[in-house]
Amino acid sequence: MTGDAPQAHAPDTLDKALQRLAAREQELAALQAELDETNRGVLALYAELDVQADELRRATELKSRFLAYMSHEFRTPIGAIRSIARLLADRVDGPLTDEQARQVRFIQDTAAEFNDMVDDLLDLARVEAGRVEISPGWFELVDLFSALRGMFKPILTNPNVVLVFDEPQGVPQLFSDDRKLAQILRNFISNALKFTARGEVRVSARREDDAHVRFSVSDTGIGIDPAFHGAIFQDFVQVDSPIQKRLRGSGLGLSLSKRLAELLGGTVALDSHLGEGSTFHVVLPLRLPAQPGAPEGRA
Ligand code: ADP
Repeated sequence: MTGDAPQAHAPDTLDKALQRLAAREQELAALQAELDETNRGVLALYAELDVQADELRRATELKSRFLAYMSHEFRTPIGAIRSIARLLADRVDGPLTDEQARQVRFIQDTAAEFNDMVDDLLDLARVEAGRVEISPGWFELVDLFSALRGMFKPILTNPNVVLVFDEPQGVPQLFSDDRKLAQILRNFISNALKFTARGEVRVSARREDDAHVRFSVSDTGIGIDPAFHGAIFQDFVQVDSPIQKRLRGSGLGLSLSKRLAELLGGTVALDSHLGEGSTFHVVLPLRLPAQPGAPEGRA
């Protein structure tokens, strides 16, 4: 009779298996329902993200357009203030007392600073709107350095700081946009001069590798705490310092330099420690990928 036992248990086992199957089915159905719900949620989130991305695009466009209009409209009154201040400073309408001359110089300096800010804003708006044209061509670094040297000569008013341009070593003719590169270096150099009370500002260029050149602007100025290095190339970022309070500035020059460098296929970087001076770098390709119709040159 021992053979009877499994038969007696068989319906029971089948029953249990069916019950387990039914329970599993229910679990699966619940899981499916949960998955469907999650899917619907994900789709809704995607749609929301699309809407937000659209809104962000529109807001950025509006901001760029506003900046472009505003800075453009500011140029006329600033131009008028500068012209009138120049007439006064040149004593066209009669002599000035020492105090009046000092006040006119203050108007001139402030208007010039305002003008630079407006220029930076306009450039930034153009970059953001993708409206900056890159015009690459072949040029020699010695020519670029000599133009920069000439540009800074009249404004080197601090006898305790020298501006040195090192002879470029082993850098061939470049194919890039020399005016954009000059604008980046001008920003670095004028910052370096602004934040250096004594010592030197040195501009140099060397070949980074087969395809790149590294420009460096180093100074012996106040330096920048490494805590700020990550943010310094963003819009409107300034580091608090007594010089900063005196000279104000827009906080836009470095972010503009970064974007211009990117347009030229390059990058910017900074080495600095508080109280030990700073070195700003821009690394660019020796040859910007040729634009259609650009003439061939020598490397
Ligand atoms: P701005 O000079 O108009 O304030 P920038 O974007 O050119 O704006 O510079 C941002 C900030 O970075 C400056 O305000 C200053 O705090 C800091 N900075 C830039 N260059 C130097 C430098 N060579 N030495 C010390 N601080 C600097």
